[in-house]
Amino acid sequence: MKPVMTEGGIMPGGSEMGTYKPEVALGVHELIDGYDPADPFAPIGVRSRLVQPSDDTLRFGPLEKIYLIWMVGGSCDGCTVAVTGGTHPRVEHLLQGIIPGMPRVELIHTVVSTESGPEWVHNLFMAERGELDAPYVITWEGSIMDESIAGEGYWMGLGDDPVTGRQISSLEWLDRLAPGAAAIIAIGTCATWGGIPAAKGNVTNSMGMMDYLGKDYRSSFGVPVVNIPGCSPIGDNYLETAAAVCLFLNGLAPLPEFDELGRPAWLFGETVHRHCPRAGYYEEGVFAEEYGDKECLVELGCWGPVVNCNIAERGIVDGHGGCMQMGGICIGCTMPGFPDKFAPIYAKSPGSLLSSNTCRVTGGFIRRMRGLTMVDKNMTPRWEQDAPSGWARSRTGPRGALKTFHKFYSAYQHAKG
Ligand code: SF4
Ligand code: SF4
Repeated sequence: MKPVMTEGGIMPGGSEMGTYKPEVALGVHELIDGYDPADPFAPIGVRSRLVQPSDDTLRFGPLEKIYLIWMVGGSCDGCTVAVTGGTHPRVEHLLQGIIPGMPRVELIHTVVSTESGPEWVHNLFMAERGELDAPYVITWEGSIMDESIAGEGYWMGLGDDPVTGRQISSLEWLDRLAPGAAAIIAIGTCATWGGIPAAKGNVTNSMGMMDYLGKDYRSSFGVPVVNIPGCSPIGDNYLETAAAVCLFLNGLAPLPEFDELGRPAWLFGETVHRHCPRAGYYEEGVFAEEYGDKECLVELGCWGPVVNCNIAERGIVDGHGGCMQMGGICIGCTMPGFPDKFAPIYAKSPGSLLSSNTCRVTGGFIRRMRGLTMVDKNMTPRWEQDAPSGWARSRTGPRGALKTFHKFYSAYQHAKG
């Protein structure tokens, strides 16, 4: 059964697309490729044709739905776990198609799909043959391992060929599906830059998606590989970016801004350090001596000052948690140089010696000045001579040399111009 294209249009990148309508009427369960669309374990590419758009949802674009094919290479599934915890937007809302302007997302996922085995792989065959009734986006989790050096076996398998019984590798699927994909989103540091499987030694010749597909790759909608790094990444970073890409595919928004590494520029443009809740301690030259201390962690090995990551302001789940908030150092997990260029992890970084010692001197002086000002600002004019607090406060304003110093300091602070 072929999808019927009822409205046409040309999208950025030159791909023809339109609003796809199912030919199958509700209750007529005509078999498609031998599968009953009403069977909950049939391929989603078949089942989704029975889903009728709800009258409650706001549709603006030409796309009623979009398929998201989630495939894995050398991965720990941590990125999947991270994304299922995302909240802005929620995965459930994308699947329900209740976000205004967003096409409904039909998920073909190696872990959370209801169908499995041949029914799951059938979705990929449908995608390759152009039989899905909507465009598909590929999200790739995990490193790309070089199958040409796998010998008799394979590094990453994803289903059998139904005719020959031959194992098909994940990489072969990528080769077959990448040209027709509306977009490819690499999630996690393994998929973006190679990550831990590509660390020193690298017996599998692991690499990231951009390295594998090459700089000339463009999706069928004209989009280069999108990269959401992190080990694991912040779930919201993926969901927010995927939603923005879907709006673009739906013709409702321009492609959002990406940096020269294909990262969402608005998420990875700053260092962790600039938004770290401990940055004030760094500036005043006060450093933690052991885990559990509340001060800046740079002397315990934190790389935050030179790492592009937004976890300090975004948190890890629903705005909460994250590395420094939970007492951990930044080990640079979002960076292309991770892990080798950050090893040995937990050792003080070589560059931090100069900066932290400089802060110790300059920040130490500033901190003492602030202390003086704080004492002064914590006092009403009446308390200059005596503080009548029942909470044992006996401190009054600065005295002696400190008073003179504070007088000049205060005059300097309030000088105009
Ligand atoms: S803990 Fe790390 S990121 Fe935070 S202020 Fe210290 S060096 Fe910067
Ligand atoms: S703060 Fe550092 S270790 Fe934590 S997620 Fe960001 S890059 Fe990774």
